[in-house]
Amino acid sequence: MGTILDGKALAKLKADKLKEKVKILKEKGINPLFCVINIGENPASQVYIRSKGRLAKKIGIEQKLYQLPTNTQESEVAELIKKLNADPSVDGMMIQLPVPEQINITNLMEIIDPSKDVDGLTPANSGRLWQGHHFVEPATPDGIIALIDHYQIDLEGKNVVVIGRSDIVGKPIAALALERNATVTILHSKTQNPEFYLKHADVIISAVGQANLIKADMIKEGAVIVDVGINHVDGHLVGDVDFDDVKNKAGWITPVPGGVGPLTVEFLMEQVVKLARRRNDRK
Ligand code: NAD
Repeated sequence: MGTILDGKALAKLKADKLKEKVKILKEKGINPLFCVINIGENPASQVYIRSKGRLAKKIGIEQKLYQLPTNTQESEVAELIKKLNADPSVDGMMIQLPVPEQINITNLMEIIDPSKDVDGLTPANSGRLWQGHHFVEPATPDGIIALIDHYQIDLEGKNVVVIGRSDIVGKPIAALALERNATVTILHSKTQNPEFYLKHADVIISAVGQANLIKADMIKEGAVIVDVGINHVDGHLVGDVDFDDVKNKAGWITPVPGGVGPLTVEFLMEQVVKLARRRNDRK
């Protein structure tokens, strides 16, 4: 069986270290604070917000929730963002996705001050990511790179195949793998003959949201498999990868749950602290 890439254990390790860093920051009078704007009542969003809140509290970061009704207009969210942009006590903010259909998230991303953009999704920060001079990264990709580093997997010259092209996972993990000198291919819903690319992949990072998408016969012996997908099947949480089928052929593999998920929450906190430190350094 391949080595399990234990995201849960790494997240705990990182959180313990971050807690120490926050303690030192607080002694210097820096109290990291980030705001979550949640519009509507999406049940999955409520779960994510609670889990972020729990970890933030444990680390010593303040999370402030702005819960807005489902029928909130985009202009009202824009006003709130401007208020938070101007508030010196706020180190970061994020809009919890998904948002109701009357809200155009792209417009709102244009308004968030990039220096307070904890998700790294503003156009300025996405651009910085591709240009290789970023100060904040989307949490999931940052966590994946940390996991790969922790297990001393070298991406240089490797064929990294990313499945999915979202702004939050697929595109930024492609940028970060490219930064590590990997040869990166992005597959998506319109890709023809995905099997061809998967067979040649040294590393597969799947962020689709489709259970059992990746089977053992699609991968190369010894490949690194990072499963970002979250799917609910018969009351269980599973990823995109058929874990039991793939685990013996893979060299390394993330479980679901316990792989990328815990790292995402932890690395969101890392971004908050990065922004808090950066803002303080610039004072
Ligand atoms: P998304 O839901 O916005 O889009 C899915 C992507 O998959 C699209 O880019 C689409 O082109 C691609 N796709 C769809 N069908 C495909 C197919 N058959 N073959 C190849 N590509 C295909 O993407 P997202 O927001 O990145 O989420 C993807 C999955 O990752 C979801 O299950 C989500 O819940 C999960 N997720 C997990 C974490 C975590 O922390 N573990 C974080 C973010 C997202």
